[in-house]
Amino acid sequence: MTALLMAIMCAVMFAVWRFNRNIPGLQAWTLSYLFGFGVAALLLGRDSGTEGLHSALPVVSTFVCIFATAYCSLAGARAFVGQAPLPMAVPVAGALLTGGIAFYFTVLQPNVGLRVLLGSTISGALYLASARTFKQNGIGVLPARRLISLAYGLHGAFLLLRPWLFKLGSTVDGAPDIASQLSHFIILESTVALILMAFGTLMLVNEHVTQELRRVAEKDFLTGVFNRRAFLSLLEKAGSLAHRTQSALPVLLVDLDHFKQINDRHGHKVGDLALRHFVAVTEGCLRKHDVMGRMGGEEFAIFLPHTQREDAQRVSERLRSLVAAQPLMTDKGPVGLTVSIGLVMCHPGEAPENALHRADQAMYQAKQAGRNRVVSLQAASA
Ligand code: GH3
Ligand code: MG
Ligand code: MG
Repeated sequence: MTALLMAIMCAVMFAVWRFNRNIPGLQAWTLSYLFGFGVAALLLGRDSGTEGLHSALPVVSTFVCIFATAYCSLAGARAFVGQAPLPMAVPVAGALLTGGIAFYFTVLQPNVGLRVLLGSTISGALYLASARTFKQNGIGVLPARRLISLAYGLHGAFLLLRPWLFKLGSTVDGAPDIASQLSHFIILESTVALILMAFGTLMLVNEHVTQELRRVAEKDFLTGVFNRRAFLSLLEKAGSLAHRTQSALPVLLVDLDHFKQINDRHGHKVGDLALRHFVAVTEGCLRKHDVMGRMGGEEFAIFLPHTQREDAQRVSERLRSLVAAQPLMTDKGPVGLTVSIGLVMCHPGEAPENALHRADQAMYQAKQAGRNRVVSLQAASA
C-alpha cells in the first residue's frame, strides 16, 4: 500500500513540478518522493532477516534512498524559503556515511539494531532540520508552513524515537508480538507522515502561486511599489481608519523633474534605472508602514499613517533633499535627479481621490515655483 501510495504521490509531485518549474524547492521535493518510492520498492523486494554479503546491496541501497528522501526534503525547504543550497559535498558525504553504516552493520559486523539506530538518527535529524527551516521563516503568518513544519517535526521526532521503541518492545513479555505490532505502526506512521507532507507541499505550491498572482496584480513591474489601483484601495482603507479616529492623513504626490530630458539625454534604459533609484532612495527615507505607489510615468504618491502635518512636512523635505543629494551612478557618470512634491492632509471624510487631486495641484505649484521643492496646501479647497 505504501509503495502504491508513494508511486501515486510521486506522479502527482512530478506533474505539479512540470507545470510549475519556477517554484523553488519543488524539484527537490519531487526527487524526495522519487527516492521515497525507491525505498518502498526496495523494501517490497527484500527478503527479511537475511544478513551478510548477498543482502548488502539492497540494504545499502535502501539506506541511501532513505537518506536521499530526507535530504531532498530539507533541500526543498531551504530553497522554498530562499536559503542558499548546501554545498554538494554535504549530500555526497551523507550518502556515503549512511551507505557505509549500512554496509558495516550488514556485512562486517551484522547488527540490525545499530544499523536502524544510526540510519533513523540521520534521517530524523534531517526532517527536524526541515521543520526548523519553516519554523524560522513565516510560520506564524502562513498556515501551509505550519502544517508542513508539523509533519516534518513529528516524523523527525518519531524517527529519532523509533529505535528506542523497538528496544522497549523487546524487553516486554510477548516480544515478537509487540515487534510485529510496532512494525505495523511504523508503516502506518510513515504513510500518514507521507500524506501530510504531500498535502503540505501542495499547500505551499498554492501559497507561492497566490502570492505571485497578488504581486502581479498589485505591484508595479518596473519599480516594485504598489500600482495605482492597489495604492488607491490602500489609501481608501487608511482614509476610513483615519476618519474613525478623526485624524488627518498626510498624502504626498512626488513627480520627477525634467524626466523627459533624462530619457532624451541618456536613453530610456537609464530613465528606467533612475525610476528604480528614486524608489530605493525614497524607501530608505520612509517608515515600514508608510505606503508608496506609482501613479503612472514618473509620478508617485505616498501616504504616511499616524503622522502629523509638521512631521509629514519634515519627511517631504528630507525626501526632496535626499533625492537631490544622491544622483544615479551610471557608467557614463552621475545623473542628477530632483523631485517636486505636493503635500496635503486628507481630512476625515474626504474622498482619497479628492486628496490626491489637491496633492497634484500642490505639486503643480511646486513645478511652477521652480521645481526641486515641497509645496504644502493648508486646507481642503474642494
Ligand atoms: P516636469 O518637470 O514638468 O515633470 O517634466 P517631465 O519631463 O518630468 O514631465 P513630462 O510629463 O513632460 O515627461 C515625463 C516623461 O516620463 C515622459 C515619458 O517618456 C517618461 N516616462 C514615463 N514612464 C516611463 C518609464 O517607465 N520609463 C522611462 N524611462 N520613462 C518614462
Ligand atoms: Mg516630471
Ligand atoms: Mg509627470
